[in-house]
Amino acid sequence: MMMMTTSTRPSRPVRVRIAPSPTGNLHVGTARTALFNYLFAKHHGGTFVLRVEDTDLERSKPEFTQNIFDGLRALGLQWDEGPDVGGPYGPYTQTERLERYKEVAHQLLAQGLAYWDYTSPDTVDALRAKATEAKQPFVYRPAPLSEAQQAEAKAAGIQPSLRFRIPPHSQPIVVHDLVRGDVSVEADTLGDLVLLKSDGTAAYNFAVVVDDADMHISHVIRGEDHLPNTPKQLLLYQALGWEPPAFAHLGMILAPDRSKLSKRHGATAVAEFVEHQGYLPHAFINFLALLGWSSPAGDELMSLETLIEQFGLERIAHGGAIFDVDKLKWMNSHYIRQLSPEALAPLVAPYLQAYPIKATYTPQQWCLLLEAVQEPLTTLSQITEDVAYFFGDTVAVPDALWSEVLETDEGRAVLTVMLADWLPALDVSTLEATAASLKHLTKTLLKDYKTKTVMWTLRACTTGRVQGADLSKTLHLLGLNRVTLRLKAAGQRLGIAV
Ligand code: GLU
Repeated sequence: MMMMTTSTRPSRPVRVRIAPSPTGNLHVGTARTALFNYLFAKHHGGTFVLRVEDTDLERSKPEFTQNIFDGLRALGLQWDEGPDVGGPYGPYTQTERLERYKEVAHQLLAQGLAYWDYTSPDTVDALRAKATEAKQPFVYRPAPLSEAQQAEAKAAGIQPSLRFRIPPHSQPIVVHDLVRGDVSVEADTLGDLVLLKSDGTAAYNFAVVVDDADMHISHVIRGEDHLPNTPKQLLLYQALGWEPPAFAHLGMILAPDRSKLSKRHGATAVAEFVEHQGYLPHAFINFLALLGWSSPAGDELMSLETLIEQFGLERIAHGGAIFDVDKLKWMNSHYIRQLSPEALAPLVAPYLQAYPIKATYTPQQWCLLLEAVQEPLTTLSQITEDVAYFFGDTVAVPDALWSEVLETDEGRAVLTVMLADWLPALDVSTLEATAASLKHLTKTLLKDYKTKTVMWTLRACTTGRVQGADLSKTLHLLGLNRVTLRLKAAGQRLGIAV
């Protein structure tokens, strides 16, 4: 049985890594793993390493690497060592480390712990399929070929793969996982591991061990989907006589129906949330931090400094964590509300290209408008709907508001008084004057009606909705001309003399 530290207090300098495979854009799962590694490193004054695992030559693409770098940086998860920033243990891209993998693989070969396997990958796949069909576990451990058989295969031009022979084990292999405790696997359920594939490239389980050891990684914090790989990796550490890192496997991120989060549940790419929908990077970080970890103080809304201070592996949950978009929205609206209008303006600007902001509003008015619509915003992209009624002479009033608010007896009566007695004297030149005009409307002219009825009628006609930004600010910003045009248009449709 292999022994590893069970304490969560690091016994060697903390060096952790995020090791994305650039076979797709940065997704939520990788971002969460990166965050946990980042927080763990910063909490312990350690080092956060980024390594690009691009050994899958067919599926790896430079644009995905770029997307992953951009996405992590947009979230503020800057690495201390990595392909683009360098560091003492590079290169940090697996395709640039092939010579090193070959060197270590040949060392295992020389020690008699590895062998050349001339069986084609297709044949191995066929054997696996056959075992699956027969509902048998597939444990591939081919009989060694004689010298003559090897020479024959070589002469036939067959490219061999180099395999690590699983040592005969009487005891199970135990992973002392810092999150889930001891996890043991029977050694005889493992097939011989590919070290170098027949095309000469390194296989994942081997490359990752060489890299983690060479880069002095102290803790491997990664998704639970990698747990089946860990016993194999431990065997390689043992064969090479290297000290393994400590391991912590995080539960999966689940959709609300508890199935594995996937594209069919909506967005899973970080850029989709941060760039397109307009979640603030910190809101997203705060939300990700609580996907499988909880603060000892039970806090939910936490700054990055607080997350770093409080983070530890002890409070990582074993089970899956539900990706609850409503919670993300709640956090985002909290952080949006904390922004000053001046800080909000450049953040929403990319979503508002279609609006003639400069032609319609002075910078001061624009800040007032943002202040007015900021409160109910849940995402930055939502601003496009929320500011729409501040532009143009007319506003579209949905059918439901006509039938439920305006075409009722009360709606008609209220609008009639507004048009006849209120509009002619309306003053929206300042915020104070607008507030006074509204007070006059509800307290004097329409005092026999509920304030809600009066406000809903006025809001429906002028903004096409019954809830939203502060009404004094809204009417002041719309200006007398547009308020008049919109109220009169509604009156005309209802057949009220205007
Ligand atoms: N490259 C692997 C992945 O993207 C991660 C490997 C690891 O963390 O050990 O899933």
